[in-house]
Amino acid sequence: MAKNNSARKRTVHVLSSPNGKGVYAQKSIVKDAVIGRVRGEVTTDDSRDPRYLMELDEGYLLRPKAPFRYLNHSCNPNCELFVWDDEEPEPETGTRALHVSALRRIAIGTQLTIDYAWPADFAIPCHCKSRQCRGWIVDAGELAKIKNKR
Ligand SMILES: [Zn+2]
Repeated sequence: MAKNNSARKRTVHVLSSPNGKGVYAQKSIVKDAVIGRVRGEVTTDDSRDPRYLMELDEGYLLRPKAPFRYLNHSCNPNCELFVWDDEEPEPETGTRALHVSALRRIAIGTQLTIDYAWPADFAIPCHCKSRQCRGWIVDAGELAKIKNKR
């Protein structure tokens, strides 16, 4: 069993990127493929690094573990987080698992990104270099709030 797992090449791996670590495709990934489940600690404590927590159902948050804790932001991401609508929630918390899926085909060696969509209060300048870059790591709907503030 363990032997099979180690022989099987994983879909993604963590490498250093221009912004700290990043998640990169180790195989080519087809559009709409489910790349993996985001594993991590389910918590309600948002006092430490709230930006890097992922929202779950019922007010819970997920503090993701590797590899997906290293998903970087892009204003034109190639991945998104989703839950299976028909998945049974965890009995203790009522939360459902988060998965990462491909929004388009992803070539080997490409960095996987998601749109962090942070509220305006958390926004920091974005350097994702995509043509659609909003200039800030912020939810597209909150961008006007930043422009009004500055
Ligand atoms: Zn950007």
